[in-house]
Amino acid sequence: MSVSVRSILDAKGRNVVTTGSTTTLSEAAKILNEKRIGAIVIVGADGRISGIFTERDVVNAVAKHGIDSLDKQVASLMTAKVHRCREDTTVDELMELMTQKRFRHVPVEEKGKLTGIISIGDVVKSRIREIELEAEQIKAYIAG
Ligand code: AMP
Repeated sequence: MSVSVRSILDAKGRNVVTTGSTTTLSEAAKILNEKRIGAIVIVGADGRISGIFTERDVVNAVAKHGIDSLDKQVASLMTAKVHRCREDTTVDELMELMTQKRFRHVPVEEKGKLTGIISIGDVVKSRIREIELEAEQIKAYIAG
């Protein structure tokens, strides 16, 4: 049985860095840098997810708009169609989604409320832990 998103969030916490869509690229880059994260979830006044803005979007914007990108609002640079998961989503399902869609962040939503975010680093960490546990079980089995 694959580990669930819920157990990852229980271990790492449910705090998500969010901002509004009028935040500029230079402000967003500062947040990414200060918080040492790769993605910011963009939320509306109601707190609901309206987009996701990641370090990849910084690179895309600078490549496309050059120095003018700094004052652009994330509303025009973010991805508005956000793939989300739930707390009962499994790590295997997340790996499949991240590989297929080629992104490294998935916000977690329960009943319209943002309850966490999973990065590809969290997925890798969880898989390594699973593999270590399996190896320990096999060793214990062999040792009798
Ligand atoms: P990332 O690999 O997460 O830095 O993101 C690569 C691209 O996919 C960026 O343009 C992001 O805005 C977008 N992206 C990241 N996560 C998601 C997601 N969960 N749903 C939709 N798009 C995403």
